[in-house]
Amino acid sequence: MKQTQHGQQNNPYEDPGRSLWFVKRFVVLYWYSIDPGATMNLTGLHLLLTYRCTYECDHCFVHSSPRTGATMPLELALSSIRQANKLGTVSEIYFEGGEPFLVYPVLVRAAKEARSFGMQVGIVSNGYFATTIEDAVEWLKPFAEMGGVAISFSDDGFHGREDESETPADRARAAAEKLGIDAGTICIDPPGIEEDPHQPGTPIVGGGVRFRGRAATSLVDESLPRQPWSSFCSCTDEDWVDLGRLHLDPYGRLYPCQGVSLGNLNEKPLTTILEEYDPDTHPIIGPLMRGGPAELVRAHGLTLRGDWIDGCQLCYNARKALRDLFPDELGPGEVYGEMDG
Ligand code: SF4
Repeated sequence: MKQTQHGQQNNPYEDPGRSLWFVKRFVVLYWYSIDPGATMNLTGLHLLLTYRCTYECDHCFVHSSPRTGATMPLELALSSIRQANKLGTVSEIYFEGGEPFLVYPVLVRAAKEARSFGMQVGIVSNGYFATTIEDAVEWLKPFAEMGGVAISFSDDGFHGREDESETPADRARAAAEKLGIDAGTICIDPPGIEEDPHQPGTPIVGGGVRFRGRAATSLVDESLPRQPWSSFCSCTDEDWVDLGRLHLDPYGRLYPCQGVSLGNLNEKPLTTILEEYDPDTHPIIGPLMRGGPAELVRAHGLTLRGDWIDGCQLCYNARKALRDLFPDELGPGEVYGEMDG
């Protein structure tokens, strides 16, 4: 069996996960070779309308806060939806942030645009605007009228829920239900120590938080179990070859995982960015795809070693260390905590 210079196994046929990756890669490359104009099977575009938020959550992927100002111009929001529609594969447009209701006129207009193409619309909000249920009904009426909109309200200890008393998210959800809008709740538990169901007796971190963005520092607790850096040899959350959904930020950056950019919609059309996308040669995505956060550290000769809570914490810290070298691929500052002050 071939060994890499770092002693990792490098024979795809002896690792079912790698083997599957190679087959998938071959199929995608073959498809591109017979149809050079093809794009990936992109089905969802997530618009981060603003990095600003009414909260400053410890688990936030993008360091949103009331002090963060970047907001997507309406023109960019509309143009991205029209370009996504032209791809013919995108059926869902999501609006997130930050808190998208802070830019309410842009949110309503852009959601209408997506609905005019028959796309499903999803919104993630903390419901801060719901002073009363009656008020929230007024805020949400336009979405009920356009139909095809689902709203998820963040409602947990990170978003102001301290006890059983009514939260803004409770009132917003009640208003949505009154209007017949499909409404749900996002509830993230704080990290805690659990037993690995696959390896009884082995402690793992439970709670659903990924340690990237603000969580990579704010939620780090010395009591949480850690693993050696070299054990994080895959990114378990992203399929870098067959991109199913992309995020678009207020600056026009397109990224799969927050802060890892493929290109900028203010500089190139969506079709060009997707056609030019080559995960193998991308300086961040290439190593992540070949060997996860550990390979990202190795490939760029970083000195980050030691033990980490999860792969995202190692990846995020590696990317922060590389940000000056790759400003186009790694940014903006809002994702890397440079606006937190
Ligand atoms: S390992 Fe890195 S790229 Fe993958 S999900 Fe975590 S932070 Fe994102």
